[in-house]
Amino acid sequence: MDLQSVRGWVEAAQRVVVLTGAGISTDSGIPDFRGPQGVWTKNPLAEKLSNIHYYLADPEVRRASWQNRLASPAWSARPNAGHMALVELERRGKLHALITQNIDELHQIAGNSPELVIEVHGTMRKFMCWGCGMRGPMERVLERVRAGEADPKCRDCGGILKSDTISFGQQLVPEVIDRAMQAAGEADLFLAVGTSLQVYPVAGAFDIARSAGAKTVIVNAEPTPYDPVADAVLPGLISQVLPAITKGPRTASRSLQ
Ligand code: NAD
Repeated sequence: MDLQSVRGWVEAAQRVVVLTGAGISTDSGIPDFRGPQGVWTKNPLAEKLSNIHYYLADPEVRRASWQNRLASPAWSARPNAGHMALVELERRGKLHALITQNIDELHQIAGNSPELVIEVHGTMRKFMCWGCGMRGPMERVLERVRAGEADPKCRDCGGILKSDTISFGQQLVPEVIDRAMQAAGEADLFLAVGTSLQVYPVAGAFDIARSAGAKTVIVNAEPTPYDPVADAVLPGLISQVLPAITKGPRTASRSLQ
């Protein structure tokens, strides 16, 4: 299936639901986990840092995690053309929901309405206390790490602090995942973008949309387990493919001048 056909589907659609993964942010300088330059591909031990059991049990893992958070490229990252394409989709009144596995908030920074963004894996821009559930801006804790606290504890209850993200081994938030699955079931066009579609239950949004009759499109450089059942698979760079399929007739004719 070619880009023009998929652009026609976007044109005809009224309720586009997009599921994004780490691949949409690699062109903003934030590495994914499982792609060729992925954090886990290059260093399999890094997977430990994302696992809640190691994190809670091992102060060494927590100290390394805080250093990683301080050094994250996400703090200076800017949205790329892929993110902007989804803002354009919203501007055209077609975006029904934007389900993201990303924790970088680049969709909101790009200009998508926070009400449309469903963050199934939370956000790295907040911290949470494992003991009392208190939450707040991540910057407050990063300041303490910069000032020398290698593994800062909650000032209220002394509990372990972490980023407000869903680590591997941690429960998803049921209301958030329900909202994502409900939105997927309401789609007339479902776009899976920059995700290896290997993390469940989120990848199941694809099945739900497909069973409900949505057309399904995968935009991803590498094959995914859902390629054989998708209506279209568009490999290539997201920051090039996504603008090409989401631009409206007005933008398209402008770009021809
Ligand atoms: P993943 O790492 O499993 O897969 C990313 C996919 O994107 C890969 O298949 C890769 O080939 C593809 N890709 C990467 N750059 C691309 C590009 N420019 N154009 C086209 N395709 C490209 O990612 P995932 O499925 O999202 O799962 C990883 C989990 O890790 C997520 O659940 C997320 O919570 C977390 N994570 C988030 C971020 C972030 O917030 N930016 C970054 C890394 C990991």
